[in-house]
Amino acid sequence: MISAVPLIERKKRGEALAADELRGLLGGFVAREVPDYQMAAWLMAVCLRGMTDAETLALTEAMVESGATLAWPGLDRPTVDKHRAGGVGDTTAIVLVPLMAAAGAAFVKMSGRGLGHTGGTLDKLESIPGFVCELPLEEMRAQVRRIGCALVGQSPELVPADKMTYALRDVTGTVDSIPLIAASIMSKKLAAGARSIVLDVKWGSGAFMQTLDEARELAAVLVRIGAGAGRGTRAVLSGMRQPLGAAVGNALEVREAIDTLTGSGPADLWALTLELGSHLLEMSGLAPDAAEGRAMLVRLRDSGAGAEMLERLIEAQHGDPRVVRAPELLPAAPVVRPLTVDADGPRWVKAADARGIGDAALELGAGRKTKADAVDPAVGIVLRARIGDRVEPGQPLADVHARGDEAAEQAFAALRAAFRLSDTPVPAADDAYETVG
Ligand code: URA
Ligand code: CA
Repeated sequence: MISAVPLIERKKRGEALAADELRGLLGGFVAREVPDYQMAAWLMAVCLRGMTDAETLALTEAMVESGATLAWPGLDRPTVDKHRAGGVGDTTAIVLVPLMAAAGAAFVKMSGRGLGHTGGTLDKLESIPGFVCELPLEEMRAQVRRIGCALVGQSPELVPADKMTYALRDVTGTVDSIPLIAASIMSKKLAAGARSIVLDVKWGSGAFMQTLDEARELAAVLVRIGAGAGRGTRAVLSGMRQPLGAAVGNALEVREAIDTLTGSGPADLWALTLELGSHLLEMSGLAPDAAEGRAMLVRLRDSGAGAEMLERLIEAQHGDPRVVRAPELLPAAPVVRPLTVDADGPRWVKAADARGIGDAALELGAGRKTKADAVDPAVGIVLRARIGDRVEPGQPLADVHARGDEAAEQAFAALRAAFRLSDTPVPAADDAYETVG
């Protein structure tokens, strides 16, 4: 039986624990031999004292060992994976997964549900009539061997230690620790088994990390864990001061992803897809370098191969594949109203605050405030102006898709606070990507 108190006390003094000690602590917690209060005390000590790289890797591997792992013996495709921590309006997964499968990769994307201002890929996918995210592992494996991709929920068999520690962190003020966040993210990626992993580390108001410097620090730790575990790992730092693309809301974002796969989507969503995808193609050997990877992705979009793969994926997961060619089959909100600029002269958009816009979509019903809430697939916001745009009086800043007029009015109030206008020109916020690893 593990004795947790000495481990808590040593971490309290800032000492590093050995790999077998961390394995014992995590194993004891998952076996319910270490009670919540001891685990919470240790988590708080980690928050205050930090962990060495060696400890963070050992913690990550101990978490992986707490459950099942995926492996792909005999698969004739290179395995790839992507992670995004947080973000508002980011529907990259629904664009990237079919394109990468069309390029010859095997891509099992396990996603979560939305909480708070952050949307979850599963909620977006479930706006497609009939779509099923919770596939049994065997069915998911067979699908990947057949078509090369799956968009599914986090399997409960993988990394139970993450679910248990996250639930405790959530209620003990111990979420915002870089080693704990890094171990949580990377344990799930390592357990899912892909050889090449790209991590989209966002910074800005709609992200976990508020500043670029914090994002750099998290990215460096994530990449060192991946490399330490023998996986090809790169991180891309991307700005999240304003939402990605125009749509924020579940069916609206699926439609935006379909538009992007057929060539008429927003430029920033396509740019991020190219950035993340070209790294994966290069790391997995499907492209000789990132530039050729980009060219491949453009060809797969323009030939329709990406959109066709999305149809196959939706069909395989019991959804209605006709939505790809007829997006009007997706649920639509009964009320659509524009929020207009009421100034008397031209203005420039200084802020389209991702957090504020995410919160407005949440109030409309597009997200959930507590884990038990249901989401409304149809409602949300479509931005009509971005940071740096010049807007004239009477011009719309955004369209609100709502269940009723009262809900739309409430969203207007939240959106007015999220949009800040300037009398003088403002540069666009096309933050350059930075790569780590
Ligand atoms: N995302 C995760 O998966 N885990 C964390 O701890 C934070 C963000
Ligand atoms: Ca979007």
